[in-house]
Amino acid sequence: MKQGPRDDTAHWRALSQAHHLPPFSDRAQLHEQGPRIITRAEGVHLWDSEGNRILDGMAGLWCVALGYGREELVEAAARQMRELPYYNLFFQTAHPPALELAAAIAELTPAGLDHVFFTGSGSEANDTMLRMVRHYWALKGRPEKKVIISRVNAYHGSTVAGASLSGMRFMHEQGDLPIPGIVHIAQPYWFAEGGDMSPEDFGLWAADQLETKILELGVDNVAAFIAEPIQGAGGVIIPPDSYWPRVREILARHDILFVADEVICGFGRTGEWFGSDYYGLAPDMLTIAKGLTSGYIPMGGLVVRDHIVEVLSAGGDFNHGFTYSGHPVAAAVGLETLRILREEGIVERVRTQTAPYLQARLRELADHPLVGEVRGLGMLGAIELVEDRASRRRYPAERGVGMRCRKHCFEQGLVMRAVGDTMIIAPPLVLDRDGVDELVEKARRCLDLTLAELEG
Ligand SMILES: *Cc1c(COP(=O)(O)O)cnc(C)c1O
Repeated sequence: MKQGPRDDTAHWRALSQAHHLPPFSDRAQLHEQGPRIITRAEGVHLWDSEGNRILDGMAGLWCVALGYGREELVEAAARQMRELPYYNLFFQTAHPPALELAAAIAELTPAGLDHVFFTGSGSEANDTMLRMVRHYWALKGRPEKKVIISRVNAYHGSTVAGASLSGMRFMHEQGDLPIPGIVHIAQPYWFAEGGDMSPEDFGLWAADQLETKILELGVDNVAAFIAEPIQGAGGVIIPPDSYWPRVREILARHDILFVADEVICGFGRTGEWFGSDYYGLAPDMLTIAKGLTSGYIPMGGLVVRDHIVEVLSAGGDFNHGFTYSGHPVAAAVGLETLRILREEGIVERVRTQTAPYLQARLRELADHPLVGEVRGLGMLGAIELVEDRASRRRYPAERGVGMRCRKHCFEQGLVMRAVGDTMIIAPPLVLDRDGVDELVEKARRCLDLTLAELEG
């Protein structure tokens, strides 16, 4: 149903072609057909300019935890805009929303992680981490401890430091990345890289790559290890159960910091407040963004363990900050997001009801002839598309199986993202049982359509 000038698809596509440079898109390819124009949303559904209703299986980009149309978030922003739309946190000033939000975050994060540095995004949070970690070691008289170990196929953002910390070759190929002092070890992605090993053996092998790399570099040169508890953009990669306990053992033996990138896992996505709670990780720093404000307004942050804060506090100025660090309107929306998550018991409901139902229903898709594995945890899921189930062999890349499936999903009214031939979901945390049913039924139809196309 077209409602007015905002539904004039041709108009928006012309503007896109003439003036817009989209993120992570092939512009030439995009404009053969033109972008899909999303005009409004309510609950867990989007509407496009053609009047199609689409279930948002990705919560925007992993962020719209509370779903669309939450009036309380709108009101919180409007109230704060009237009272104090902007002030900064530089030069010995502060304002109530940023301070209240820092306290609210500290209450939820694992014990000992009590101080928050605010940023405008997850990328900025990881940039801040890199500078703070190196500054910390310099203050401790160990300026040579600089290298940060990350993982292949990690995603930590798109700024120069964020993209360098990320382990994606197609990002590094552009702009001469990674910057010096960042190295990558293997990822715990059993389905794609486990070969003949059992998942448990492969998990131990992947964890041991961390120790090998620390010893190779010399522990005196290593500042930190950064990792997502579950890799998101890399393809919802859930490590074998053996992985995190072994990594923790290795970290305990060596004097380096552990940074958990909780930009996706944070604020309830696993059914715990943080992925670090789910896996018992006890990191030294957490980076956060996305779900913090349910995506209604940009905000990120770096949460820092007390012993690091003590060292920094004795070290004079930390010469780092953003104009919009702790922006009062974003902070007000963050506070309201956390209030709703707590008062409505949403994380608890994910853990005890929604996630178990979603995961059980998703696994029904494992019998589909195109599916090599279904995995998931909390409100995260992945479906591996393969040509041969027994050997986990994929279709040749040029057949573009993931992209075909994604296209069918859009046409059937479901946003499911393709990472190569891995279909992934991260729906709003407020998805209900009917929403889960709709998601799984549409996903099955899209798998059927994709298979028919491949065989046709
Ligand atoms: C999205 C993401 C980031 C980057 O956040 P931006 O807000 O896009 O800068 C960093 N880490 C992870 C794990 C992410 O998913």
